[in-house]
Order: sequence, then structure tokens, then C-alpha cells
Amino acid sequence: MMEMNTLKPNVNRFHNSSSLPDTAEVAVVGGGPAGLATAIALANEQIPVVVIERSNYDQPRVGEHLTPEGVGCLQQLGLWTQQFIAQHQLCYGVRSVWGEAEIAHSDYVFHPYGCGINLSRPAFDITLADLAQQKGAHILLQSKFRRAQREEEKWRIVLETPEGTQNIRAKFIVDASGRQLVLAKRQGQTAHIQDQLIGMVCYLQTRNEANLPSEDTLLLESCEFGWWYFAQLKNNRGVCLHLTDSDLLCPGKNGHQRTWHERLQSTIYFRDLLSRYHSAEKILIKSARSHCLNQITGEGWLAVGDAAMSFDPLSSMGITKGIKSGMMAGQAIAQSFRGDRNFIIQYEVDRTREFNQYLKMRFDYYQIENRWPSSTFWKRRHKLEITNEDRNTISLSTPIFI
Ligand SMILES: Cc1cc2nc3c(=O)[nH]c(=O)nc-3n(C[C@H](O)[C@H](O)[C@H](O)COP(=O)(O)OP(=O)(O)OC[C@H]3O[C@@H](n4cnc5c(N)ncnc54)[C@H](O)[C@@H]3O)c2cc1C
Repeated sequence: MMEMNTLKPNVNRFHNSSSLPDTAEVAVVGGGPAGLATAIALANEQIPVVVIERSNYDQPRVGEHLTPEGVGCLQQLGLWTQQFIAQHQLCYGVRSVWGEAEIAHSDYVFHPYGCGINLSRPAFDITLADLAQQKGAHILLQSKFRRAQREEEKWRIVLETPEGTQNIRAKFIVDASGRQLVLAKRQGQTAHIQDQLIGMVCYLQTRNEANLPSEDTLLLESCEFGWWYFAQLKNNRGVCLHLTDSDLLCPGKNGHQRTWHERLQSTIYFRDLLSRYHSAEKILIKSARSHCLNQITGEGWLAVGDAAMSFDPLSSMGITKGIKSGMMAGQAIAQSFRGDRNFIIQYEVDRTREFNQYLKMRFDYYQIENRWPSSTFWKRRHKLEITNEDRNTISLSTPIFI
């Protein structure tokens, strides 16, 4: 499927724009975990669905760790096979330096699923695309969503493809474009943006494979300017992230490199850990902010996964949340086609509740770290106030036009 350590996936079995159907019942914009889970759920309901994906799955995708809850989702999808496990890296818990200088252990063994997993991406996304296609979904690669217009109860969707501009008609559109929010933006939606967190991401390769003690837990360490995260990946690879706010990066030429290296020196454990690896690629900068759309559903459309709401990577919940919301969205759309819109309404209510629960959990977790009272990063996270369940009364964010 995917040659490891290269990004040259064989994706010839998927469709390209020369085989674009004229119509589909549902068009899903974005072939990440959330969009593909939506397509699987729709295909399970025998609803014709086309997934519009701009890439060829040939670029790095961040987000690797699934907690045991995520493993449960994979089991539900029927993906948890020996073959699947062999492509990824099992993970048995979390070791964290958070709130104090000592390492704390949290073991997954007591969870019903017993372990988590560190995914190799985009190989994981391709596995989901394969499953969606086997179930009957039409997976269209190298096709970029441009705009959509509602005409007589249907959408006319304009795509940019290697063959030029093309159109497709669909009854319903799902925005699964991740943090790009491509449809929601066009619909004039606003997003409640909570912070300006970014992830500096570095993929690593071991220096000496023979002597490497395998890291079978996730590692977290907080520092004055944010926190660090490390996950062991398959084939002697690892991924290390430094999470901080975008305005707290070192300024000037080589600012990213300086931020990384200076802050790494101030860590207790990561400095030693990273000395066992060398960087496989350069540092990528990714937005890791939390946001929630003002409106997650509308006339003939809804948003799933990160397009609907995005979580701090601290939660390790982004992929699981994306898959779950996709599965629920698929069922809600199927019910609405049968004339019952209540499921779509419930889908929106559930997402709002989920976001509030997430904000509380994030707030509680950041409260544990008090070692840098004058640090801007930590002060920002300590002053948030959550008053009750209702999103409108959470004094966290200002709605921002996206
Ligand atoms: C630094 C960082 C670390 C993270 N770590 C973790 C982790 O350890 N565990 C975890 O569970 N989550 C993690 N996450 C979150 C996780 O990556 C996301 O929540 C998850 O990938 C969301 O899935 P999605 O399908 O909603 O969006 P995405 O995975 O972003 O997929 C969106 C898709 O839409 C496509 N697309 C975009 N625009 C267009 C367009 N115009 N036309 C067609 N296609 C388009 C993209 O190519 C992409 O395939 C992390 C995130 C960040 C930023």
C-alpha cells in the first residue's frame, strides 16, 4: 500500500476527475478520517456518495496517536486486524512530566481495549479510503473544491481538477475539509476560535537502530512556553512536536529552528530522548488551535471532524472525534433522506455538547501546570472561565469571521 518512509502511495485504484460522475446523492469534501468515516456510514446505508479529495495522499499528515477509545472506533469499523496492527505502532500508555518535574505514568492496560496506537499517516487515511471504496463510495483524488451553489434543492459543486474546472451535482454536501472549512467559509459561517496554538512537528529517524530502547508509551513534557510530545512510529521512526502559541515563536531569520533548539535544551527528558534520533525532515508548522463553528448544520449541508470543531492535540481526540462525528453524520443524513430531520438537529446538539465537555477537560488539564506563573502561554490557559453547559455563556472566545 505505502512504501514506508517515502510518500509515494500507490493510489491508482481510486478515481480521478476523468471518471467524475455527473451527480451523487451526497458529496463529501475532504478525504481525511472524518470525511471517509462519513462516506463509509453513507455507503452502509446504500446512499451514493462521492468523496472529493484535493491531494493524492502524498503529503505528510499530522496526528498519530489514538487512545484506547480510538482503538474501539477502529474495531467498530472492522479495521482492527493483525495486518492493520502490523502497519502501525501499538502504544501502552502515557508518561508525562506535567505539573511537577517527576514522570507520572498512566497505563492503558486497565482500559477495556488495553492499548492505544500510533498511526502511520497518510497510510491510515488510505486504508480508510480503501474501506469506503469497497463499500461503494466513489473516491475522487486530485480534485479541489472551489465553490457550491444551491439550485432547485440541489448543489452545483465546482471542482478544480487536472483536467480543468468540472461540475458535479449533489443533494447534500458534507464539509470534511479539516481546518480549511472550505464549504462553511463559503456559507458565511463564523467560528469561535479559542487560541493561537501551533504545532512544530518534526519526524525523526533513530540514529542506531540496534541500540534503540523502544518507546511504547507516549511522552509529554510541559515547559515555560508550551509543551512537548513524542510518539514512536513504525520502522524506527518517531514524531516529536513542540506546542506553543504562534506569537511566542522566536522572531527573525531561523526563528523556528532557534525556538526548537533553545527550548529543547530547557527540557528535562526530551533533550536526552531526541539525542537518540536525527531529524528525518524539516520542521513543519501546523495550526493546532481549537475552534467550533457557530453553526454545524444548514440547509442541505453539515460539517464533520475538524471542519466542525478542532481540538488541542493534548486531548489526542481529533481523529477519534472525526471518525465518530462522520459515522453519526452519515446516519443523520440517511435519516433526513427518509424524511426525518430530527437526527440532523440531534447531531448539532451533540456536537455542541461535545465541544463544551472538551473545553472543560482542556481547562482542567492545563490547570495542573503551575510552575511558570509569569509565562504568557500558561497565563492564557489559566484565565479561561467556563460557566455552564450553554456554549453562548462560555466566556472563552469571540466569534471570528473566517
Ligand atoms: C500538530 C497536531 C498534532 C495532532 N495530533 C493528534 C493526535 O496525536 N491524535 C489525534 O487524534 N489527533 C491529533 N491531531 C488532530 C488530527 O490531526 C485531526 O483532528 C484529524 O486529522 C481531523 O480529521 P479530519 O478528517 O476532520 O480533517 P483532515 O485530516 O485535516 O482532513 C481534511 C481533508 O480535506 C482535504 N481538503 C482540504 N481542502 C480541500 C478542498 N478545497 N478540496 C478537497 N479536499 C480538501 C485535505 O486534503 C484533507 O485530506 C493533531 C493535530 C495537529 C495540528
